Amino acid sequence: MNNPHIVILGAGYGGIMTTVNLQKSLGVNEARVTLVNKHDYHYQATWLHETAAGTIHHDQTRIPIKDVVNMSKINFVQDTVVAIKPDEKKVQLENGELEYDILVIGLGFEAATFGIPGLEENAFMIGSINSARMLREHLDYNFAMYHNETEKNPARLNIVVGGGGFTGIEFIGELANRVPQLCEEYDIDRDQVRIINIEAAPSVLPGFDPDLVEYAMNSLESRGIEFVTGAMLKECKPDGIVYEKDGKQVEIPTLTTVWAAGVRANSIVEASGFTTNRGKIEVRGDMRAPEYDDVFVIGDCALIMNPETGRPYPPTAQIAIQESKVVAHNVKAMAQGNTELEDFTPNILGTVASLGHNDAIGVVMNNRKIFGWKATVMKKIIDNRYLLKLGGLRLLFKKGKFKIFY
Ligand code: FAD
Ligand code: NAD
Repeated sequence: MNNPHIVILGAGYGGIMTTVNLQKSLGVNEARVTLVNKHDYHYQATWLHETAAGTIHHDQTRIPIKDVVNMSKINFVQDTVVAIKPDEKKVQLENGELEYDILVIGLGFEAATFGIPGLEENAFMIGSINSARMLREHLDYNFAMYHNETEKNPARLNIVVGGGGFTGIEFIGELANRVPQLCEEYDIDRDQVRIINIEAAPSVLPGFDPDLVEYAMNSLESRGIEFVTGAMLKECKPDGIVYEKDGKQVEIPTLTTVWAAGVRANSIVEASGFTTNRGKIEVRGDMRAPEYDDVFVIGDCALIMNPETGRPYPPTAQIAIQESKVVAHNVKAMAQGNTELEDFTPNILGTVASLGHNDAIGVVMNNRKIFGWKATVMKKIIDNRYLLKLGGLRLLFKKGKFKIFY
């Protein structure tokens, strides 16, 4: 290939880290690199629960792409991908079309709603800066409105979170911190506010270490969170939700339902005709799509089976970042005409989940359990390490999390 055109779709963890890696390793005349993203910023999806609760400002969560990508080396296109046409080696954008020689698909995740009635229309999701910011504003608005109506509507102060996986739990952890502040700000008694988590499995964080799950539930319950486990959210209305538990249907009046019960790959992938497994492209060892030698897939759009469990690896930023190294290496090799590509093997370093800014749980380094202050510090180290990788010390000091005592 002579001066091939490499097109990277999505500036999430996988896409931006692939771009940054290529920008460091590729010579200017070796290839042209184009990065396409909806917005002119990269956001840290792993901080969106904080943005959504209002415990951090959205500007801390997003990073202008020009701050980490060298625009004289990389062609950045701010546009929305509409379709991928792998047989024609083209990408359809809202405002044009791109041709590629090598493609990297990193369009990330979207909420999986499983066809539950009313969710699309009435629930809030935590999936982007825009959706998180809207949720934060909505929470504020309902607290503000509560006192301004002659007839008080308790549904304004009931917050229902569907799903007790990591996203749901991290979000209610933030709410446990934010709601007392909102109560003080808007002269509302904390006891009038209900934060209810509905989880289908018998316990929240299914599959995670039981001792740490118990710790998390105790920590959150002591801060006023209500858990309803073994309960399926069945319907979301504009003014309430219905869940089913033990064969009985229960309705909770609420104007705020947050859907955090699972994710799927960006639906563009499936709609573009790739063979998919659970909506994702099950990649070869070298991260290429099975039917196309010139298409790499990264992050939440890619599916990799864990041979030990027979189940897919979970969609995480940790894996997307690791993949970017191999994808960048392989893209560069192909651009240089090499046919020997590296295989990717995930190296799961652990999982740490926040329970608000002052508590956390985690399993790290050879299954060591951590919780409380130590875990909150570990979580910040993980967050800061990524910033350092992405944009060096400058970005770390600009956006990093350094407050460890409260
Ligand atoms: P994403 O980060 O989803 O980025 C996709 C990018 O593509 C975005 O920039 C988006 O704007 C862009 N895009 C999407 N559609 C289009 C389009 N049509 N056209 C153009 N651009 C488009 N994982 C962890 O490892 N650790 C954690 O602590 C953790 N915490 C999380 C907390 C929350 C609240 C959530 C929601 C997820 C968390 N995750 C965590 C999971 C992690 O965020 C995802 O696995 C990760 O973001 C996937 O990265 P990605 O590169 O595939 O895509
Ligand atoms: P998830 O799939 O991990 O959890 C969804 C939860 O919703 C499950 O517990 C499921 O039982 C429940 N659920 C599904 N349908 C339901 C229904 N109708 N009613 C009630 N409950 C229902 O999804 P997630 O929490 O969004 O996480 C997505 C990915 O992001 C995962 O891979 C996760 O590991 C990762 N993540 C990691 C972290 C972290 O490492 N700190 C934080 C957030 C997310």
